[in-house]
Amino acid sequence: MPAKKINPARELLFGNLWEYDPAPESAPAFIDNRYGLFINGKFVAPKTKKYFDSISPRNEEKLSEIALAGAADVDAAYQAAATAFKPWSKLPGIERAKYLFRIARLLQDRAREFAVAETLDGGKPIKESRDFDVPMAAAHFFYHAGWADKLDHVTPGRTLVPLGVIGQVIPWNFPLLMLAWKIAPALATGNTVVLKPAETTSITALKFASILQDAGLPPGVVNFVTGAGETGSAVVNHPLAAKIAFTGSTAVGKAIQRALAGTGKRLTLELGGKAANIVFDDAPLDQAVEGIINGIFFNQGHVCCAGSRLLVQESIAETILSKLKIRLKTLRTGDPLDKNTDIGAINSKAQLTRIQDLVAAGISEGAEIYQPACTLPKNGFYFPPTLFSNVSQSHRIAREEIFGPVLSILTFRTPEEAVEKANNTHYGLSAGVWTDKGSRILKMSTELKAGVVWANTFNKFDPTSPFGGYKESGFGREGGKQGLLDYATLH
Ligand code: NAD
Ligand code: MN
Repeated sequence: MPAKKINPARELLFGNLWEYDPAPESAPAFIDNRYGLFINGKFVAPKTKKYFDSISPRNEEKLSEIALAGAADVDAAYQAAATAFKPWSKLPGIERAKYLFRIARLLQDRAREFAVAETLDGGKPIKESRDFDVPMAAAHFFYHAGWADKLDHVTPGRTLVPLGVIGQVIPWNFPLLMLAWKIAPALATGNTVVLKPAETTSITALKFASILQDAGLPPGVVNFVTGAGETGSAVVNHPLAAKIAFTGSTAVGKAIQRALAGTGKRLTLELGGKAANIVFDDAPLDQAVEGIINGIFFNQGHVCCAGSRLLVQESIAETILSKLKIRLKTLRTGDPLDKNTDIGAINSKAQLTRIQDLVAAGISEGAEIYQPACTLPKNGFYFPPTLFSNVSQSHRIAREEIFGPVLSILTFRTPEEAVEKANNTHYGLSAGVWTDKGSRILKMSTELKAGVVWANTFNKFDPTSPFGGYKESGFGREGGKQGLLDYATLH
């Protein structure tokens, strides 16, 4: 924001009077210089003898060296998980619950440390890792601890039987939280796990391994193998996997589905999205503006259910656009470790390039761009909050998942047109509806082909509430009772 001069002399002495002082989070992150693989309860060197760097997107500095797992390492992890499966699955649910409760409490004890590590490694604002990612990860362990001894009540009259070893591959946008979404239900239902974090964000998973050790979790129940797509492919294609749970891009999800066809392995996929956030003219507009901002700028827009397509009723489009522009000016983009930062660093150079390419396509296809003036840090990967108006359905920015802080604004006249435009996508993960009318909320939520429909709010999550997609956003549910059923067979 350009400086507003109240007192030029004071400004000379103290700089821009309208700027906050830097307020970096000060808790130490305790990141090791090098991490091995976590197999059978211990950290071991990779058989490949190879390591790769994990850098901080905040300033491009190297944080740690991460082991690169090859096929033999992945196999060792599966062998450990297979050996651990028998005793773990035979353990009474009440005993498994104790481990899950212990894990949840240990994570809470170390919450600040984990929040800082998550922010350093992935680039998300500290206020989000501190107030959302880490507490929600602990909440998922608490919630599933509660289920572990009540599995006979999930579907009364039937018994949930665990599947075996679960192979899990997760993305970089919510590293610790996606780990919790995957591990907590798998363990509660009596399965064992081989999990691969994303290559840019392995650190909190490896720190989490020390929590598993402190909780006394039996060796082999959870194993972490690190690496990129090749390691992921080895996890997905290992013959000992009874089920694969994947969260990431639709392209990789499709490849996994092809590879697994005919193998008898169970599969759940949580893929991309291009959510419509729909605002009717009777909505509480200021509340809607906050919801729109949160819907697209939360976690720099690296959110599969981000409200990246704003559909506004034509009569209020101008008003909403001008309110959004004003609100955008107050967003603070910069150092994610600063407690005042709203928009942190883009997770990787590759993701920044993808965002830049799609924004360039938006401009060349004729949409109108708005970005507030802001100074971005010199080092690291940053992108300013961006609005596109005059967007039409055929524009790439209206069809493709940008996975960045970029909102495309489209308009509609009637509820029917809103539904048609909202559903006109390959995806179907989430949607939002803003209106004063309860009946309209119910009608819209039935007609929108999306796994989650938020009403007069956006991006709200709870472990009790199942999450998952329609169409190319994937299948299977995570959270709630439905999530448990995806980790068991019914007898
Ligand atoms: P990706 O699908 O390539 O990566 C996700 C995970 O899959 C990572 O752990 C990766 O190492 C692993 N992986 C990659 N190739 C694999 C393979 N052949 N077999 C098994 N595992 C493999 O996603 P990305 O390249 O990091 O991001 C690209 C796009 O994906 C983003 O722009 C976004 O649109 C989407 N995405 C969606 C989510 C989500 O939560 N749904 C998360 C991250 C990215
Ligand atoms: Mn990193």
